[in-house]
Amino acid sequence: NGGVSDAKNLRVKLVLLGDSGVGKSCIVLRFVRGQFDPTSKVTVGASFLSQTIALQDSTTVKFEIWDTAGQERYAALAPLYYRGAAVAVVVYDITSPESFAKAQYWVKELQKHGNPDIVMALVGNKADLNEKREVPVQDGIDYAEKNGMFFIETSAKTADNINQLFEEIAKRLPRPAS
Ligand code: GDP
Ligand code: MG
Repeated sequence: NGGVSDAKNLRVKLVLLGDSGVGKSCIVLRFVRGQFDPTSKVTVGASFLSQTIALQDSTTVKFEIWDTAGQERYAALAPLYYRGAAVAVVVYDITSPESFAKAQYWVKELQKHGNPDIVMALVGNKADLNEKREVPVQDGIDYAEKNGMFFIETSAKTADNINQLFEEIAKRLPRPAS
C-alpha cells in the first residue's frame, strides 16, 4: 500500500482529543509500540505515528495517528489539528468528571466543525483505577449513544481494550467503493 486508500487497504488520519493528562499519548504508545512508561513525558508532537491492522475480511487499515503536543490547551488551534481526520478519538479519565465534561466539549466542537463523515469514539481511560472512579460507566455509554459514537473503557497501563478500541474503529470506517 503505497500511501493510498483502495477498497482493501484503507489509510486514515486519526486524531486524539481530550484534556491534558487523560492518557492520550499513553494510548498511542501502547497501541503502536506495546509499551507503557509511567515516567515518560512523551509527546509525539507535530508528526505522527502509524500502525496498520488487518481485519478478518483480509482488508487492512493503516492509522496515521496524530497526537497533540499539548494543543488541546488551545481551543483555537484545534481545527488545524483535526482537519481532514477520518477518525476522532475523544478521551477522558474515569477518575475525573472535569475531563468527562471536557470530552463533551470536544464532541460538540467536532460536530460543529469536523468532517461530517468523521467516525467518533468516546474512550474512558485509566479503567485500572476503578477504585477511584468518579465517572460511572453508564454515563459514558449514554452520552456516546446519544451522539452516535462508539464507546469503550481502556487502560493504557494494563493494555485492557486498547487493541479492541482500534479494531472497533476500523470496522466502522466507511469503505470506498471497489
Ligand atoms: P495526555 O496528556 O492525554 O497525552 O496524557 P499522557 O499519556 O501523557 O498520560 C498522563 C498521565 O496519566 C501519565 O502519568 C500516565 O502515566 C498516566 N496514565 C495514562 N494512561 C493511564 C492508564 O490507563 N492508567 C493509569 N493508571 N495511568 C495512566
Ligand atoms: Mg500527550
